Amino acid sequence: MNGITDLLRNVRPSPELVEKFNQIVSKLNLEYPYHCFQCFKCTSGCTSFRLTEIKPHAFVNLARLGFVEDLMKSDLLWACCQCLKCKERCPQDVAPVDIIFLLRRMTVSSGAEIPEELSKIIMNVTDTGFIQGIQKVKVGEEAVDREQLGLPSLEIPNLDNFRSVLMKALEAQIE
Ligand code: SF4
Ligand code: SF4
Repeated sequence: MNGITDLLRNVRPSPELVEKFNQIVSKLNLEYPYHCFQCFKCTSGCTSFRLTEIKPHAFVNLARLGFVEDLMKSDLLWACCQCLKCKERCPQDVAPVDIIFLLRRMTVSSGAEIPEELSKIIMNVTDTGFIQGIQKVKVGEEAVDREQLGLPSLEIPNLDNFRSVLMKALEAQIE
């Protein structure tokens, strides 16, 4: 994935992607990134702050400068854990997370690969309704399951409705 240093390549933003980005920002009625005054409040409270080279305030700044293509390959795009703290903290209602979601959608729509772990989570949810398989837990040196702990087994929910909503969302065009 690209970091901020990879952006220092003296390339110009792609006008087509910038136009598409601006169109979607307007269509989704998102607060326009130009309202950001780079106060860093989003970054100072970001849960994923330590995991990424590009921080939320820089993400917003680079988005409004038009580096949409580079941001679609950036580390923060998939490291963001969607805690929404940046949305709550922003005095300008810019919400870096909304821009991150938007670029995720643009990335998926473009057919680019998403991180393998994320694909696994999506598969787990569509197959079982859980983000990960049912795990054993360690009690002392022993790994025990729910039955051994006297807990009821977990029922797999009826996922038909969920799957059809998910498929519709995946098929929806964002242009
Ligand atoms: S908190 Fe809002 S205004 Fe401040 S840097 Fe982040 S996005 Fe910009
Ligand atoms: S939603 Fe993402 S970008 Fe915003 S504070 Fe949480 S982890 Fe950071």
